[in-house]
Amino acid sequence: MTTATNWDTFSTALGDIEVIRDRNQLEKLSKDYYHFSPVLQKQLADKVADIVVRPQSEAEVLQVAQVCVERQLPVTLRGAGTGNYGQCIPLAGGVVLDLSRLNQVKWVKPGMACVEAGAKLAAIDKVTRASGWELRMYPSTYRTATIGGFIGGGSGGIGSITYGQLRDRGNLNAVRVVTLEDQPRVLTLRGDDVQKVLHAYGTNGIITELEIPLGPAYAWAEVIVVFDDFMHAARFGQALGEADGLVKKLISIQAWPIPSYFQSLKPYLPTGKHAALLMVAEPSLELFEALVKAWGAEITYRKLAAEAGKGTAIAEFTWNHTTLHARSVDPGFTYLQTLFPYDPELTLVEHMLNQFGDEALMHLEFFRVEGKVIAAALQLVRYTSEARLNEIIRYHEAKGAFIANPHTYILEDGGRKTVDLDQVNFKAEVDPYGLLNPGKMRGWLERFN
Ligand SMILES: Cc1cc2nc3c(=O)[nH]c(=O)nc-3n(C[C@H](O)[C@H](O)[C@H](O)COP(=O)(O)OP(=O)(O)OC[C@H]3O[C@@H](n4cnc5c(N)ncnc54)[C@H](O)[C@@H]3O)c2cc1C
Repeated sequence: MTTATNWDTFSTALGDIEVIRDRNQLEKLSKDYYHFSPVLQKQLADKVADIVVRPQSEAEVLQVAQVCVERQLPVTLRGAGTGNYGQCIPLAGGVVLDLSRLNQVKWVKPGMACVEAGAKLAAIDKVTRASGWELRMYPSTYRTATIGGFIGGGSGGIGSITYGQLRDRGNLNAVRVVTLEDQPRVLTLRGDDVQKVLHAYGTNGIITELEIPLGPAYAWAEVIVVFDDFMHAARFGQALGEADGLVKKLISIQAWPIPSYFQSLKPYLPTGKHAALLMVAEPSLELFEALVKAWGAEITYRKLAAEAGKGTAIAEFTWNHTTLHARSVDPGFTYLQTLFPYDPELTLVEHMLNQFGDEALMHLEFFRVEGKVIAAALQLVRYTSEARLNEIIRYHEAKGAFIANPHTYILEDGGRKTVDLDQVNFKAEVDPYGLLNPGKMRGWLERFN
């Protein structure tokens, strides 16, 4: 599709819009954190765009869309490229459309903000916190990731213990989307219609602008609590999650030796102890400490919000940053993404802990699903072979755990498992030639079968 393209005339047709053709830059801007998976490493290492285009307004996005449709070019969207499953890697070459220059916060009202897709999450927060509001949730890549990429490829993170996941009704109000039709248009999706493009890997529309609900901003203290026994730490996490009066944003429970991979936190992570990495609202600290006492645990680290803003945030040791730190010490680690069924006793967590021991180190993140506190795990797996990895996955599934497989770039084979017909039909409407992120949406690939 792209071999016959003359990239000089393509660039000329874009006028003043920035294009990048330097080979090193192209390689860099064609990749994300797919290398966390040894399976994806093999499949995606050689995929590179022919050109990167960096518009800075919605009008420019429309112009790029027009030029790409006329030439029938594949277009893969990119925010900051921090996805983990090769979501923004161009399987068919062509254009990588980098949206990071669409980065304005357009307005903030009580409880709601309107932002451009390429705005970074931390940058949005900085603006909204000035009027007492903050993002309800963000990934641990908060400082670098864009809101468009989070909606396109993320699921939840810090804040999900209170607000659930991105896909939960109420966490995204509206989006503006540029289409790849013969005459590209800008559509606005509101209410439940936002689900058509949410977590669709940019396969069915270019999000240019979003209305995102906010939560009240708190001064967040960072705390580490340590435990002798992992299951005691895990059940403390569940209890803190269920303590509705205690305002918190993060409950991350890490089995030893994972804490030993966190170099800069070493003084607070005694050898052999399991750790809870937490964010608690300052007004809740006094009664939070009473909970810790009741559980017979020890606080080794406590940083108030004013101090927490300096240096590495505790959140940057949690969610998939845990995997990042572990892999920097031992690149032989890969990971799983597991949702355990609702069970305040955490019986299945305990079973998996005993079943896999040192082969799959337990790392829990608590979040809220339909009002219930659920343990998700991003276990660190000592990789030996793809067959063994699949065996571990199948074992979890057979026992009733849900695996959002991070070792596939196919949208539906990751966390969803089924084809979302609304998303496929929306793609048929707005991307009739299948130019957007080709090869990622199974429902589209199989639509005529
Ligand atoms: C260390 C680490 C920790 C992480 N922690 C978390 C976490 O806590 N929670 C979580 O959910 N994820 C997490 N992730 C995954 C990733 O960081 C998040 O999904 C992040 O929000 C992606 O943002 P991005 O701007 O980098 O998106 P990109 O990686 O650039 O893109 C992600 C997907 O969205 C699409 N996309 C980008 N922009 C648009 C747009 N404007 N319109 C439509 N589609 C678009 C892309 O094509 C791609 O398919 C983590 C990743 C790493 C490497």
